[in-house]
This record gives sequence, C-alpha cells and structure tokens, in this order.
Amino acid sequence: MDVTYLDFNATTPCDPRVVEVMLPFFSVDFANPASRQHEPGRAAFMALENSRKAVAKSIGARSATEIIFTSGATESNNLALMGTARSVTTRGRHLITQATEHPAVLEVLTGLKAEGWDLTIIGVDREGRVDPEAVAGACKPDTALISVMLANNETGVIQPIAEIAEAAHSRGVLVHCDAAQGPGKIPVDVGKLGVDLLSLSGHKCYGPKGSGALYVRRKTPPLKLQALVHGGGHEQDLRSGTVNLPGAVGLAAALQLATDSLNRMTTNVGTLRDAFEQSLVDSVPNVVINGAGAPRLPNTSNVAFPGIDGEALMASLPDLAVSSGSACASVHPEPSKVLLAMGLPKALAAGALRISLGRTSTAEEVQHASLRIAEEVQRLRR
Ligand SMILES: *Cc1c(COP(=O)(O)O)cnc(C)c1O
Repeated sequence: MDVTYLDFNATTPCDPRVVEVMLPFFSVDFANPASRQHEPGRAAFMALENSRKAVAKSIGARSATEIIFTSGATESNNLALMGTARSVTTRGRHLITQATEHPAVLEVLTGLKAEGWDLTIIGVDREGRVDPEAVAGACKPDTALISVMLANNETGVIQPIAEIAEAAHSRGVLVHCDAAQGPGKIPVDVGKLGVDLLSLSGHKCYGPKGSGALYVRRKTPPLKLQALVHGGGHEQDLRSGTVNLPGAVGLAAALQLATDSLNRMTTNVGTLRDAFEQSLVDSVPNVVINGAGAPRLPNTSNVAFPGIDGEALMASLPDLAVSSGSACASVHPEPSKVLLAMGLPKALAAGALRISLGRTSTAEEVQHASLRIAEEVQRLRR
C-alpha cells in the first residue's frame, strides 16, 4: 500500500546532503576527536569544533563553547533540568514548568519532585498558551529554574518564551527551553529568546537520529550544571563518552540547511497546512482545530472530530502515516495530555489527529489526506 507520510513532527528523514557530509566520518575520518596526540585525531577534533561553531551560529549563540553535543533533545532536557537542579545551591529547590511539555521535561521534573524538589506546573489557556504573567506570579524567592518549550510537538502552539525569560530574569531565575520542534519551522535565536539553556534534536530537522545538543549560556557567575554521565570528561565535563562525530557533523549540517530553507518552509508548507485545514472545515461538520487561535508552527495541524473515536479513525486510515497523539505517548493509548490540559473534553481529545507536514510534502498529498480523513469521519459518524 502507498502510505502518505505526514508525521514529520515525530521524525524526519535524514537529508541526503546531510548524509553526504556525514559519510566520511564513519569509515575514513574515523579518528577519535579526543586523540589529539596524532594527526587523524587532530583532524577529527577540527571537524568536531567546526560543527560546534556551525551549531552555535545557527541558533545565534555567542560562542561555540556554549554548545554541548548530546544524543538528542531527551538527553539535553535531562541534562539541563537535573543538571541545574542538582547544582543550584545558592537558589532554592523550586522548579516551574507548564502542562503541555514533552514527557522528556515533565517526567524529569516530576522525578525531581519525588526526590524532594518543589514543582509548580502552570496551566495553559484553551489555545495551549502559557501566560508569562502566570509564570512570573509562580516565582518564589527560592525558584531556581523555569522550563517552557518553544513549540508543542502535538499542536505546534508556540509559547511566548522571550516574555517568560524576561519575567524570569528580573527575578534571577534561570530559563530552559525545549526547542526540539523549532529549527527549520520558526527562527530559533537564543539571543532573542533570552534563554539560558536550550535543547535541540537532530532528527526533528532532517538530521540523524541520536544527535542533539544543549546550549548553555556563558554568563558570570558561570551557570553550573552537574553531569548525568561521568567518565573521561568530554564536552567540558558535562557529557562523558566518545562524541558521536558523524552525529555532530550531521546535526550541524541539518541546522544550517534548516536556517537556509526557513522562509521557503514557512510560506510553502504554511500554505499547504492552511489549505488542509480549510478543506476539512469545508467538508466535515464540527471539526475542531486545536490551537488555531495561537501562533503555531507552519507545518502542524491538530484536528478533532466530535463523536469520533481516534483509534477507530486511525485504524480506518492505514494509507496515512499520521499521529493520534504524540508518538511517544501512543504506546499507551489514552487521550492526549496536551489536549486535556487545553481543556478539551476527554471524548474529543481521544478523537484527535496530528498531521505534520515536511519540506517534501506536496499539495496532492495534503489534498489526499484531507479527502480521506473527511471520508472516514463521515463513514464513522453514520
Ligand atoms: C522529539 C521531541 C523531543 C525528544 O527528542 P529526541 O531527540 O527524540 O530525544 C523532546 N521534546 C520535543 C518537543 C520533541 O518534539
């Protein structure tokens, strides 16, 4: 069966141009970047540092030393949150996040809470947005860190990070941002966002799986992080273990391409997404577009159909690779926590579909998807 892939927020293919620049580092330029005593090791080190510079440049970081290579956004989130919580001694033990975070943030923070940290989870409005004033109001004298994502993986809703960071900094609180869904879809600039820590994932923006980075702002006094993985002291002692050099090279190349294609992606893909939603609205009564009233990623559409069971709808659409919630949550089918946090009734949240477009998505694919979804919703309603 021909399956139309419309699940680019779950993962993207590695761009062939990215694969090409990675290839030599598997078998030809294979030396360990830590082996600086010999020439091949020094060449590998140079490649690693050039990748670090490119990653830094792509997110507007001031220095390459602010980039720590990791295995992906999950690890970056863990390092940012546990690393800060465990090393912040001058501030207190209070942490703040919001209800629609990815499990790689929520699970880490609830884990810290179980170990004795104080955690506030701020709610979102009907459109999935966090109010920066609610974040400011939740700050206590002992608040150490606020973590809010840049854009939600299920709805595409973009959070007002710059405003949140401003409110946090006036209170001396650090800000972490999970920006896994940002690159290639919206600008990601750590200067403009004003965040102290920012997580990136390679495979969400046409880079390799198992690649990622954590941005750690250089400031005085230095931001202290406790490592999760101990050993040889790689990555400024924050992430021991031989660096995945092909992964770092691939991440850098993917982020460069993401920046280059940003405008085209926003206009072309945004137009396709809007056409998809319009076509559904025109052909299906009572379709709900979640987060439509908020600024959203141009490629993401989260739609729900009253009276329809999401699992049944998914089962009747084997020709579409779409998601019924976040891919990570769909191992345990239950209504999306993100949509419930937005105040959707359980029955409606259980009938939601996420369609996420990619650079290669075409008008034909999008039209086919909206026709097929409309067809099956009408069949199930009868
Ligand atoms: C995909 C995703 C992650 C996890 O990233 P990995 O690189 O797969 O570990 C974290 N946060 C968000 C918002 C994501 O979309």
